[in-house]
Amino acid sequence: MNLKCFECSKAYELDTIIYTCIDCGGLLEVVYEKGELLANAEKEEAWKGLPLSVWKYYPFLPIGKGSSRVTLNEGGTGLHITEKLSAFLGISRLYIKNEGENPTGSFKDRGMTITVTKARELGASTVICASTGNTSASLSAYGARGGLKRIVIIPTGKVAYGKLSQAMMCGANVIQVQGNFDNALEVVMELTGRHTDIYLVNSINPFRIEGQKTLGYEMVDQLGGVPDWVIIPVGNAGNISAVWKGLLEFREMGFIDRLPRMVGVQAEGSSPVVDAFESGGKRIENVKRPETVATAIRIGAPVSWKKAVRAMMDSGGTAMKVSDDEILEAQGSLARLEGLFVEPASASPIAALKKLIRNGTIARDERVVCVATGHGLKDPDIISRFYEKPIEVPAKIDAIEEILELKEKKTIVAAI
Ligand SMILES: *Cc1c(COP(=O)(O)O)cnc(C)c1O
Ligand SMILES: [Zn+2]
Repeated sequence: MNLKCFECSKAYELDTIIYTCIDCGGLLEVVYEKGELLANAEKEEAWKGLPLSVWKYYPFLPIGKGSSRVTLNEGGTGLHITEKLSAFLGISRLYIKNEGENPTGSFKDRGMTITVTKARELGASTVICASTGNTSASLSAYGARGGLKRIVIIPTGKVAYGKLSQAMMCGANVIQVQGNFDNALEVVMELTGRHTDIYLVNSINPFRIEGQKTLGYEMVDQLGGVPDWVIIPVGNAGNISAVWKGLLEFREMGFIDRLPRMVGVQAEGSSPVVDAFESGGKRIENVKRPETVATAIRIGAPVSWKKAVRAMMDSGGTAMKVSDDEILEAQGSLARLEGLFVEPASASPIAALKKLIRNGTIARDERVVCVATGHGLKDPDIISRFYEKPIEVPAKIDAIEEILELKEKKTIVAAI
């Protein structure tokens, strides 16, 4: 097991503090020897009987057995079959993998438990990230749990309030920088280059991906097989790459014999990965001023775009952009029809699915998993911005009956 450059294949020791390749600047990946994972699976048979969680899959994670885990019980989120939403969309088997059920309310916890555990193994004193919100919420919680100092750099005024409150409450040093997420990440990269005891936990960190790949393992375990399609919102493009890595590993170990088609979804105002996919996937045109109501995927210069494009292409999948209106409509449908309140970015796969069914890409009888990446309470502003305030009346039964259009029912008392 070592770190390997995704571009030039240069290898590094697993425990080197390094985020990009020294030679070419490429992203690094944790790579296992051929047969290593299967050997681990056989040696550590106990994993099969453990309850669903990120750490269930410990034989396939790059953390030593003796390491003390920084955990809040992440993973093991519900895979919910939908009936009403499936019927509404005209498909028979749509499942929602509800990552909002994680400890801080998003899938980021899967990567963070591994990365913060690693940070302590490596002797870091501080963890840092640039964030559109959920990474900072997760970093702050796991940093606190692990007893590390935590620094969060966010773009001014662009982070949903639920997420910011989590970071502040968990004692992170929160700094707003003028500019967008991409500017924030740049400055964090520079800072961690200069101060090596500050450990960077953005998704450029290969250990984040190792934790997040368990999302791919879990959906297969829960479904008892492989879905036909997996649809995921794409921001920095780490998560779709991670799920794909997990699925590839399961196939290499012989746990599954085929793979799903992967669909990456972005918002119209912030769609560099979809555009790159559609123009052949060789190069990307970054978006200078990404704009969308789905703040978790408002990213113009996605670091893992190549991995994401490869996942979509190699799987025979596709990429799709959706408008903010379509996202908000999907968010409403999911909540009203299934009781699943997710944040806007997390509803984008439903919006994309609707279009993919309509244009014939996805057939009625195919099994689809949409990944709902984060909880709806993360972004309460959506309610005040797009929904009317509840009506107010005097506390009188007449007033309420009138609003509800309840006809007065006369109680008939039979006279004897
Ligand atoms: C981080 C995040 C995303 C985007 O994931 P990437 O790995 O950056 O592509 C999507 N939805 C939510 C809720 C997120 O927190
Ligand atoms: Zn390289």
